[in-house]
Amino acid sequence: MRRVAIVTGGTRGIGRAICERLKADGFTVIANYAGNDAAANQLKADTGIASYKWDVGDHEATLAGCTRVAQEVGPIDVVVNNAGITRDGTLHRMSYDDWNEVMRINLGGCFNMAKACFPGMRERGWGRIVNIGSINGQAGQYGQVNYAAAKSGIHGFTKALAQEGAKFGVTVNAIAPGYIDTDMVAAVPPPVLEKIVAKIPVGRLGQAHEIARGVAFLCSEDAGFVTGSTMSINGGQHMY
Ligand code: NDP
Repeated sequence: MRRVAIVTGGTRGIGRAICERLKADGFTVIANYAGNDAAANQLKADTGIASYKWDVGDHEATLAGCTRVAQEVGPIDVVVNNAGITRDGTLHRMSYDDWNEVMRINLGGCFNMAKACFPGMRERGWGRIVNIGSINGQAGQYGQVNYAAAKSGIHGFTKALAQEGAKFGVTVNAIAPGYIDTDMVAAVPPPVLEKIVAKIPVGRLGQAHEIARGVAFLCSEDAGFVTGSTMSINGGQHMY
């Protein structure tokens, strides 16, 4: 039987690459997204992958969305918590709203998805949860106290939930990408980006498919003994 995988923020960037990779590996893949219908329609047209729209930072909407996916597609075996946003600014300029919104979506989204899907995985005795953290959650980053805190929180969340899932066949792992060539990084001003790339030993930005490959491994049968870990995929920029 094909396992069902849901990728939050799966319609663009890294999430889209993860969807395509998991589909190629034999999963029935569903993408979730927030509001960009054009990207969702493009994903469907290019790959046949269906998408469901809700805000992962909204607890009730996430529970309802996952229930709908389970009814229409099947029980959810794999969750990739990839949806994320930035609201950058130094602390003295950052508003309380910018802090809350990043925590709500980037970290709260992981909690909401786990609340919706972990109990079923536990009951069925198999599951995979992969949380997309960030190099900036490991190392910190100027102008990102909200994002770095949320991503750092993802790494703690991963290790705690991994302990709860281990004896039920549910693994929980994180990937900490470095700088990857997506819309999120395209928003970084070019002079800043040049300085960032100069600090990457491999000498370039990463590609979304390079993150997807790591996710695919963590979702595979072969990775059953890997749990509570963080895989850094960052071109050597931060060796943790
Ligand atoms: P993009 O900005 O390219 O895509 C973000 C995706 O998340 C979109 O599909 C978007 O949906 C979705 N999304 C945003 N907010 C929500 C929400 N509230 N509910 C549901 N979906 C939402 O991001 P990337 O591909 O660059 O990043 C993906 C993940 O990787 C993020 O968690 C990011 O923090 C992390 N990361 C990225 C790095 C990079 O260099 N790009 C580096 C390290 C980590 P919609 O299209 O509808 O807006």
